[in-house]
Amino acid sequence: MTLSFDPAALRLPKGHYVDGQYVEGADALEIVRPSDGQALSAIPLADAGLVDEAIRISAKVQKESGWADCMPRERARVLRRWADLIDEEAVYLAQLEAVCSTRPVTQALQGDVVNCADHIRFFAEFADKEGGVVAPTASSQMGMILHEPYGVIGAIAPWNVPISMAAWKLAPALAAGNGIVIKPSEMTPYSTLYLAELAVRAGLPKGLVNVVLGDGPVTGCAITTHPLTGKVSFTGSTRAGAQIMADIARTGIKPMTLELGGKSPQVVFADADLDLAAASVARSITGNAGQVCVAGSRLIAEKSIAEELMAKIAEHMLKMAPGKTWDEKTVYSPIISETQIQRIETLVDAARAEGAELVTGGCRMEAEGYFYAPTILAGVDEDNPAVREEVFGPVLTAQSFESEEEACALATHPTYGLASGLFTRDLSRAIRMSRKLEAGTVWVNRYGRSRDMILPTGGYKSSGLGKDLGREAYLGALRTKSVLIDL
Ligand code: NAD
Repeated sequence: MTLSFDPAALRLPKGHYVDGQYVEGADALEIVRPSDGQALSAIPLADAGLVDEAIRISAKVQKESGWADCMPRERARVLRRWADLIDEEAVYLAQLEAVCSTRPVTQALQGDVVNCADHIRFFAEFADKEGGVVAPTASSQMGMILHEPYGVIGAIAPWNVPISMAAWKLAPALAAGNGIVIKPSEMTPYSTLYLAELAVRAGLPKGLVNVVLGDGPVTGCAITTHPLTGKVSFTGSTRAGAQIMADIARTGIKPMTLELGGKSPQVVFADADLDLAAASVARSITGNAGQVCVAGSRLIAEKSIAEELMAKIAEHMLKMAPGKTWDEKTVYSPIISETQIQRIETLVDAARAEGAELVTGGCRMEAEGYFYAPTILAGVDEDNPAVREEVFGPVLTAQSFESEEEACALATHPTYGLASGLFTRDLSRAIRMSRKLEAGTVWVNRYGRSRDMILPTGGYKSSGLGKDLGREAYLGALRTKSVLIDL
């Protein structure tokens, strides 16, 4: 079977998905295919009124359908059926993902959609295995720690890996007994809509999961500030995360998980396996064309091997060729939009104006659509804009060090702390450095997640608040109540 498809012929879900049905509205936002810059379709914008309706429906269904009150095992059974349906519909889901996002269809099928189904199964397993405990109190008393759902969780997702981000939000919230109203990015809505349709087909109560389409300031803000969203779960830029905190603070206080931007270092010591390090560094900045929150965008290499390592990385980068996301052979992704590619160009120009030396790349690729060549900028100091700011593109800065202390100082970013990579054969140094690095995740002799959903993910400093994945994400979808009884 071929995975490649004609984007103009793909059937697209139409409208918002509320109360188990599609709700159409006037076309308000155009969706453009980044692979060729052509308009694909347009979506409606949910105003505050529609968001209010979606949240109220989800709250009512969460209370009245028995979703929160049933045996947790029953919830888990329905969630597993949903995951099975996702597997059955994997090809169509991957095509919906690839039609307007930066995800090549083969990666969407083999990585993102498989992961999405696995996430749902992973969190379904928590439903009847993790929960309240009897606290050790005096024998004349009984103390209980109860974990209860919030009611409705308001979720907002970015465009860079849409179906995975939707799964990170949906799976723990639902397994813990909540309803959820989710807004995918206005640039990549289709896979999330179809996920919600499959949820109803799998037996989740209609209206428990509602998907509203729209932008941040209108639709997103209506979700985050609604009095019935008990918690907000957001993934996106640090700028939008700060805006959401301010919006919520204006209207009250509520818990939130914020998964935000990064500027993650990859530290390579001279004793490392340089071929492994080079392949890993190159993959982490060319994967999804660097449009990954944990992109390893700052190479920090020991001086004695820096030149050799950079040459090996450049060799990998030069193999990247542009291709349409709907062609099953494509490996290298386009940049999401004309605006984003211009932002990358501006940042690279600014970096060069402040002394950065171009090792490779530094320009658009010759192709339809928005493709930017994998780029290395050397000779940069910590004040250079390409070192300071998240580029969200395939741009790697290169710095060098002569001591472990210097490596640590360079790796520490003043505002971000999402992830770090470390390449060394010295186990003691790996452990020492892992403790010192200011990041929510440290990968040693690898870069990037495997299918290890048990490891929580989230940032230090301005990279975020709270965790996705792991037990933390499940407990993060619940609030804690203490009960003390005198017997
Ligand atoms: P973005 O912040 O522009 O938008 C993310 C989502 O938030 C979109 O759905 C958008 O419509 C919405 N939004 C924007 N402003 C809002 C507001 N004021 N109120 C409510 N919603 C609002 O980010 P993006 O360009 O879609 O994604 C790229 C960013 O996401 C990068 O900074 C990247 O590092 C980050 N990201 C982080 C993680 C992580 O796990 N830490 C994962 C993926 C992406």
